[in-house]
Amino acid sequence: MNEPGSGQAVQSIQSRCCIVGGGPAGLMLGFLLARAGVPVLVLEKHRDFLRDFRGDTIHPSTLELMHELGLLEDFLKLPHQEARQLGGQIGDTLLTLADFSHLPTQCKFIALMPQWNFLNFIAERAQRLPAFSLITQAEATSLIRDGERIAGVRAQTPLGPLEIRCDLLVAADGRQSIIRKQAGLEVMELGAPMDVLWMRLSRHGDDPEQTLGRIDAGRIMVMLNRGDYWQCAFVIRKGGYQEIREQGLPAFREEISSLVPYLRNRVDELGDWDSIKLLTVAVDRLRHWQLPGLLCIGDCAHAMSPIGGVGVNLAIQDAVAAANLLAEPLLDGAPSFDALRAVQERREWPTRMMQRVQILVQNKVISRVLASQARPTPPWLLRLFGRSPLLQRLPARLVGLGFRPEHVRSPRAR
Ligand SMILES: Cc1cc2nc3c(=O)[nH]c(=O)nc-3n(C[C@H](O)[C@H](O)[C@H](O)COP(=O)(O)OP(=O)(O)OC[C@H]3O[C@@H](n4cnc5c(N)ncnc54)[C@H](O)[C@@H]3O)c2cc1C
Repeated sequence: MNEPGSGQAVQSIQSRCCIVGGGPAGLMLGFLLARAGVPVLVLEKHRDFLRDFRGDTIHPSTLELMHELGLLEDFLKLPHQEARQLGGQIGDTLLTLADFSHLPTQCKFIALMPQWNFLNFIAERAQRLPAFSLITQAEATSLIRDGERIAGVRAQTPLGPLEIRCDLLVAADGRQSIIRKQAGLEVMELGAPMDVLWMRLSRHGDDPEQTLGRIDAGRIMVMLNRGDYWQCAFVIRKGGYQEIREQGLPAFREEISSLVPYLRNRVDELGDWDSIKLLTVAVDRLRHWQLPGLLCIGDCAHAMSPIGGVGVNLAIQDAVAAANLLAEPLLDGAPSFDALRAVQERREWPTRMMQRVQILVQNKVISRVLASQARPTPPWLLRLFGRSPLLQRLPARLVGLGFRPEHVRSPRAR
């Protein structure tokens, strides 16, 4: 077949389900559907999963799902660090804010692991299933419509154009989703006052262990303990990146050193601006996550703020809910529109609640700190949490499990 005007042969494929995007949402859904025996094809535009800035936290809710799938033991053999508590330093005051040790889960910690290791693990397990296919370097470019119904997707690959016709197309292509744009789905922008500069600095033997947020006059930095290095997220005012660059790298290094003095002897590792990546923060949600033949999940349906590092886990929860609700209908053919709507009905409330909490923190903490030059002191509520191990269980539950955690109910093919 030839694409009009291109002169290049178009290869056509049929699949019961096609998923655009091999991130946490897309790969987990692909794995679960294939495990249930549904033929599924995942398209990923990159060659591999080896890329940075994707969120490195695997929360207890996701570890619990790995346990339910019988994968936990092997998964925890991958190199990782375990954060059993989350702390913060506000001005001079050190506080423990969340303690995971009482969660009713197998793992009472957040596993810190580069996301590519997590994605490689799921992809490798999925590829053992006969119903699963993954095509990398396949970038979805446009939708195929059949009247009102979305009937598939066109993609570009190094071997030429590809056309996939399917009973269900799942958009899991992240916050910049081309699929949701082409489908014309309405996006509700919820706003974020900040962006993030993402960088690594080496970790020395006498550094603290704890994964920590630091807040001081006009500055916020979160440091994830990654063994021999710190993964640092330096929070800046939205749109403030250019100004920081104009002030120069020495000034930026000084900002970091004065916020975290023990980093002073290694800030020179930030040799140029290429070692510091700007991550634009967006918080939004689709009004409708579906059209006939199409379902959006993960960041494509709801981009999360980095607060709490919950985005990966919400994406995975969406995948589990979608598999629970759609695997059986998909074994018989195209799921009804009502079945697709049921996924949004299941997942919208936990998403909305989490975004509400994130926006509260953005407005009450982040915006205020970034706008002030005064040295902050912890508000009484945080001091209370810092003093009470009992209260520290609440944020641990919120961050570690989220609202209405999902469990694997989708069938396993014999
Ligand atoms: C600054 C920042 C820090 C964060 N930190 C954390 C954290 O610590 N912990 C956490 O849990 N979350 C964090 N997040 C959020 C987290 O990264 C996302 O919520 C999560 O990755 C969403 O997963 P997803 O599968 O929906 O989408 P994505 O991870 O965005 O995956 C989408 C996939 O689709 C592919 N794709 C895109 N377009 C196409 C196309 N046209 N064709 C084919 N493939 C395509 C992409 O290459 C990608 O692999 C952070 C986000 C930001 C902005």
